[in-house]
Amino acid sequence: MSGTLYLVPTPIGNLGDISRRMADTLAQADFIAAEDTRVTMKLLNHLELRKPMVSYYRHNTEHSGKAILERLLAGESCALVTDAGTPAISDPGEELVALCAGHGVPVVSVPGPCALVTALAASGQPTGRFTFEGFLAMNKKNRRRHLESLAGEERTMIFYEAPHKLTATLADMAEVFGPDRPISLCRELTKLHEEVVRTTLGEAMERYNQTPPKGEFVLVIRGAEPKEAPVATLDDGLERVNRLREQEGLSLRDAVKRAAKELGLSRNELYQLAVEQ
Ligand code: SAM
Repeated sequence: MSGTLYLVPTPIGNLGDISRRMADTLAQADFIAAEDTRVTMKLLNHLELRKPMVSYYRHNTEHSGKAILERLLAGESCALVTDAGTPAISDPGEELVALCAGHGVPVVSVPGPCALVTALAASGQPTGRFTFEGFLAMNKKNRRRHLESLAGEERTMIFYEAPHKLTATLADMAEVFGPDRPISLCRELTKLHEEVVRTTLGEAMERYNQTPPKGEFVLVIRGAEPKEAPVATLDDGLERVNRLREQEGLSLRDAVKRAAKELGLSRNELYQLAVEQ
C-alpha cells in the first residue's frame, strides 16, 4: 500500500502559528520534501525534530517529484513544506499533488497559514466572492494583458506582489481599474510591522512613490461596480407582447402578464398600452 503525501503549511512570519497537527505531521512523516532545506532546518530545530529531507523546489519539480512519488508508492509517507505558507499556493507543490493524485497516492492537506486568506479576512473588502490572481508577470506587456482581462471583474481580487515591483504594479492597476478603486495593501502579516493600508489605487501610488515599499505584500482590490441591467421601457414590453402573441399564440392578457414579469414592468400600464395600440 502506498504512503500519504501531507501538505504542511508553515508560519508566514510568526512561529506562534505553528499548530499541533502541523508539528505532529512533520514528526510522523518518514521524510520531508522542502522548498529550501536550510529554511526548513530552522523550523525543525525550533520544533526539536530531526528528519531526513529532500529538496523540492521550482526548478527540480520533475526530477525530484518522480523520486518522491517512487518513495510514496513504496509505502513511505512524505510531508511537503515550503519556505512559508501553504504548499501549492504560488509555491511548489501543485505538480506533486497532481502526480500523486494521478497515481492513486492519498494527499492530505493540513490547514494552516496562507497569506491570501489572512489578507482577505483583514482587508475590509467584500469576502463573499473573490478571485486569487497570484503574482503578475515580470514582463510589462503580459502584466498589462493580465490586468486588462480583469477590467470588468466584479469579485474582490487578490494579488501577491514583491516590494521592488509594487510601484510599477500600482501604476498599471490605476490605469486599468481607475485611481479611485479601493485597495487594501496587507504588509508583513503576522510579523512585528504588520500593517493593513485601506486606501485607493491613486493614493497608494502617491504613498509608495514617496516612501519606497518594504516587506511582503498582498494586494486586495475591490471588484468593479456591477453593471446595471438595462432598464426595459413600455415600448420594449409592447414589442415582447406582440412577439409572444404571434409566435406562441398567447392571449393579450397572458402575453402582457408574461412580458411584464420578464421585463419587470407594470402589468396594468403595459395592458393599457397594448389595448390602445
Ligand atoms: N504559499 C504561500 C502562502 O500560502 O501564502 C505564498 C508563497 S509566495 C512565494 C510568497 C508571497 O506571499 C509574497 O511575495 C507575498 O506576496 C505573500 N506573503 C507571504 N507572507 C506574507 C506576509 N507575512 N505578509 C504579506 N504577504 C505575505
